[in-house]
Amino acid sequence: MALTAEEQTYIEQLYDDLIKSAKRLKTDEDIAFVRKAFELANEAHSKMRRKSGEPYIIHPIAVAKIVASEIGLGRKAIASALLHDVVEDTDYTVADIERMFGPKIASIVEGLTKISTILDQDASKQIENFRKMLMTMSEDIRVIMIKLADRLHNMRTLDSMPEYKQVKIASETSNVYAPLAERLGLYSIKTELEDLSLKFTNPIAYNEISKKINETQIDRDKYIDDFIAPLKKIMDDNDIKCTIKGRMKSVYSIWRKMQKQNIPFEDVYDLFAIRIIFDHPDDITDDKARETCYRIMSLITNVYEYHPDRIRDWVKKPKPNGYEALHVTVMGPQGRWVEIQIRSRKMDDIAEKGIASHWKYKTGEKGNNPGLNSLIENMKETLSNSESSFDFLDDFKLDIFTKEIHIFTPKGEIVDIPKGSTVIDFAYDIHTDVGNHAIAAKVNHKMAPLSQTLYSGDQVEILTSRKQTPKIEWLNFAMSARTKSLIKKALKADKSTDIDKGQRMFEKKQKELNLCLDSKDIRHLREKFDINSDDEFFYQLGSGQIKENDITEIMTMLDSQKNTKQDGFFTKFWKLGMGKSNTNTKDGKISHKDTFVINDAEKRFSLATCCNPIPGDEVVGYITPTNMVIVHKKDCPELKGLAATHGEKIVTIEWESYKGKSYEVQINIEGIDHLGLVYNITKLISQEANVNSNMLHFETKGEIFTGKINLFVQNKYNLDNLIRRMLEIEGVIKVTRCE
Ligand code: MN
Repeated sequence: MALTAEEQTYIEQLYDDLIKSAKRLKTDEDIAFVRKAFELANEAHSKMRRKSGEPYIIHPIAVAKIVASEIGLGRKAIASALLHDVVEDTDYTVADIERMFGPKIASIVEGLTKISTILDQDASKQIENFRKMLMTMSEDIRVIMIKLADRLHNMRTLDSMPEYKQVKIASETSNVYAPLAERLGLYSIKTELEDLSLKFTNPIAYNEISKKINETQIDRDKYIDDFIAPLKKIMDDNDIKCTIKGRMKSVYSIWRKMQKQNIPFEDVYDLFAIRIIFDHPDDITDDKARETCYRIMSLITNVYEYHPDRIRDWVKKPKPNGYEALHVTVMGPQGRWVEIQIRSRKMDDIAEKGIASHWKYKTGEKGNNPGLNSLIENMKETLSNSESSFDFLDDFKLDIFTKEIHIFTPKGEIVDIPKGSTVIDFAYDIHTDVGNHAIAAKVNHKMAPLSQTLYSGDQVEILTSRKQTPKIEWLNFAMSARTKSLIKKALKADKSTDIDKGQRMFEKKQKELNLCLDSKDIRHLREKFDINSDDEFFYQLGSGQIKENDITEIMTMLDSQKNTKQDGFFTKFWKLGMGKSNTNTKDGKISHKDTFVINDAEKRFSLATCCNPIPGDEVVGYITPTNMVIVHKKDCPELKGLAATHGEKIVTIEWESYKGKSYEVQINIEGIDHLGLVYNITKLISQEANVNSNMLHFETKGEIFTGKINLFVQNKYNLDNLIRRMLEIEGVIKVTRCE
């Protein structure tokens, strides 16, 4: 749709406005050159409109205005900005531009066209190509600056885009363009890009923070006035002409702080900084200006206490992007730390607009511009140094591109770990020992399981227990190869110790029973437990999964089968009698000199209610005056009292029968509430063939989960097995058997 006369007039107005704001256009020739670019662009885009319905040319004019007034570039950049979309969107070619405006403008426009292509690619390739592109093109840094201006205008007018595009463009802006602006020292553009980006990616947070900034405005202004007053006086007294003002932090930087430290708006203490910008005559040397910074700082410290750890001296050593200032943090009224930034007018200008605004611009010449050259040199060096290529990525803070996330320790130190890491990765990253004993974590002060994925800005405290050992399941959620290998190593070390232990236990038992078993017997033995390797058998024995008592009978049986094949197992067993006679075989009084064997036939015993022993527990019996045996656990305190006074009543117990009877035990469970936790526990109990339950009680307070379960088990082996499997359930941290 062709432009109306009204629109034409409006466009001319905008153009005049641009020329007025372009302080660097000095000669008629400059203005004629820019006019020529405007006319070509206006003609080329005359039939195009933006999504908002406005004439398209409004966009290049706006970009050129940003380039001229907000970055402070000259005629080539302004002309290139006007032409920046011509090659991409119309029939004109780079050759056409070169013919009309010369090779420099042509190469800038070509560069701008290329950047757009690169940023349309998928994220993984973007960064590498972007880097390569910057390497090859940074000799004309204007390309990047114009691109930033282009993006800034697009962000300012993003409302007219469909929502899905808004989010893509906005996140790309905070990930790629804002860090780039920072790198080039274009702080006000960087800040605006970040704020606009947040506005579209997270409108709720953006609006909330903006609202709170407004609500607290009056109080803050009052505070700032009170804070500034004595500073103004001391500057006046010392004849330093300066502007002192409070400067609000950007919405985005407040939001970042809230995210990073996991705090509400009210807890962000440094919502503003104070800026002291001193005037100086034009002929003042840079050194003189720096001296003034230090002088002002010493005057300030006469008024306020300063924080010795928070002086940032970018006067002595300016940032690579040209930023110069002296930052000092002082203790203001009401015990609040306040940051003061001290700069000369020129330093302030550079900080706001970037070093480009101070280039001693000379048409057609390159090389006699120290500011520009050092900036370009610096960028090229960063980009070409392969070792620092990571720093480059880091500087870009690209959540979608970066491979690292920043995690805060409870003390507020930052640890970088790979993206996608879970709590267990972080635990091993701190120390192998911390990893090996980790039971859970507090992520942002909330309990979290070891499997939880971490995100940049999380504050993580690892909870450990000396009783904890590495679990094979950890391998399912450990993300880094390093963590996995550390877990495997620990598991292996753990296992081989247990294998050794099992082997020794086995040999000791063999000696004790005076048996002689060969490798074939061992095979038979382990097959009884459905185990298909000797190592695994010794491991289970050493780690207590198979109890010594469990193998005694079978070992004896195997030995007896070898010696007297005709004898049945029990016959042989009784004959051997473990070296002791058995009370069950006799009538009459139970003697403490014999072993009291509990089996299905034996009725003369009861289980102590103080310690509720079950088969498999280490137990002894107490012989009552009524010729009964009360079975206690060996470590039962009540038994210890009895044994001390009635040693002659204590009898050794052999628990022969494990079958046919169930014993009641109660267990306590502790953990972190986790989706499906109760379901997984109840499912486990129902699946265990040898276990029944008549009472389940679960409770959750905050994130902490506790449970009490009444179980019926046949022996300790069943119970231990159940407890072990319960500990494998995600969220379960501790399972204890109640006494
Ligand atoms: Mn554009």
